[in-house]
Amino acid sequence: MDEDFAQWYTDVVKKADLVDYSTVRGSMIIRPYGYALWEYIQQALDKKIKESGHENVYLPLFIPESLLQKEKDHIEGFAPEVAWVTHGGEEELAERLCVRPTSEVLFCEHYSKIIHSYRDLPKLYNQWGNVVRWEKTTRPFLRSLEFLWQEGHTCHATAEEAEEETLKMLDVYASVCEEYLAVPVLKGQKTEKEKFAGAKRTYTIESLMHDGKALQTGTSHHLGTGFAEAFGIQFTDKHGNMQHVHQTSWGITTRLIGAMIMVHGDDRGLVIPPRIAPVQLQIVPIAQHIEGVLDAAYQLKDDLHVVCRTAIDASEKSPGFKYNECEMRGIPLRLEIGPRDIERGEAVVVRRDTGEKQSLPFGKLSTAIPQLLEDIQRSLLESAKIQRDEKTQNVFTLDEMKQSLHTDPGFKRAMWCGARECEEQIKEKTGATSRCIPFEQERLSEQCVCCKKESHHLVFWAKAY
Ligand SMILES: [Zn+2]
Repeated sequence: MDEDFAQWYTDVVKKADLVDYSTVRGSMIIRPYGYALWEYIQQALDKKIKESGHENVYLPLFIPESLLQKEKDHIEGFAPEVAWVTHGGEEELAERLCVRPTSEVLFCEHYSKIIHSYRDLPKLYNQWGNVVRWEKTTRPFLRSLEFLWQEGHTCHATAEEAEEETLKMLDVYASVCEEYLAVPVLKGQKTEKEKFAGAKRTYTIESLMHDGKALQTGTSHHLGTGFAEAFGIQFTDKHGNMQHVHQTSWGITTRLIGAMIMVHGDDRGLVIPPRIAPVQLQIVPIAQHIEGVLDAAYQLKDDLHVVCRTAIDASEKSPGFKYNECEMRGIPLRLEIGPRDIERGEAVVVRRDTGEKQSLPFGKLSTAIPQLLEDIQRSLLESAKIQRDEKTQNVFTLDEMKQSLHTDPGFKRAMWCGARECEEQIKEKTGATSRCIPFEQERLSEQCVCCKKESHHLVFWAKAY
């Protein structure tokens, strides 16, 4: 993993049966074990989305060209990566249809028809679906032509409400990342250069991967009234005046699985945080040909099934092979049971994250295992935080940033004047992009890291996926 991280990543996603490549370049087949991961993430997030008052809807896959062109910045931002449908059957279409790269314009058109009065607000919709972006270079989960995601789209009567919503959903994303994926996030605002096409402001959560590259794990956009003006989404306020709605949109994708892999994985393979692990405990019978071993193993499976997601590997493969497979697949706990354990009324439980082994009496398993799983969940987040902090440095000059990115890849904290030219120069000279202007600001120096003029913001910079 430290020699060739990119190859390690590709090997792990394949060997752990998360994905397979399809015949279409840059498209992936998400296999059952990979899809189960997505389902656990989805369940956790969907619950939070609904608890915060949002409703799920489904909008079409196709967008007429004229509709996509209504908001100028938006089309400019997305045009280079849009896939077009030009024919239906043998017939050429009168108007090209784009395969949605995101659904702002579809929601806007719909909202312009269903919102009339302040009584119709807020509208809090969310969609689970797929989108297509014609990416040049692709990698499973991180960047693929088609990916799965959710996109929230909301309309509000005031800018304050829209701002509150934008920040609230960023917090929801942060909590899913930290509580479920055990991936620590940095919350902040994107610069003008990096914000979403058509947004007034974009907020982001950023995470640091094992190789010191950053990954944007989720974004939440305050769209202002730009789309509402382009699409005529108006309402009559309490005083009878016509007003444009204030909008937000926010999304997370199957990329989160890539983040989880690259934050926790090791040379043995995946390490999956228990809360999203499709299998939390794998039972491996030892000397299973000896009478009574398999019976005892299946009995344990039935007992433990109630407290955690339990599986058993009773195949003909050797125990050593089974251990490796458990490790490759990142199963949080492995339970070994053989004739001697049965005599003693004990089983050996091994943690995937630390490799720590302990013998536990049968009677204690159903209380000890949930505790162990919680402990693994907690310590994965803790160690990821420590790793991130170790890979975060302050830099004061461009040379220092460049050098530091080379010898010690990670987040580079540096002051910035706010000028786009400086941001572009930093990227050109060091390869790092501005990841975000963190909410927690600190004044490291009075000077911009690039132009030496007065600095206004602390920015986290990094090379990114
Ligand atoms: Zn500057």
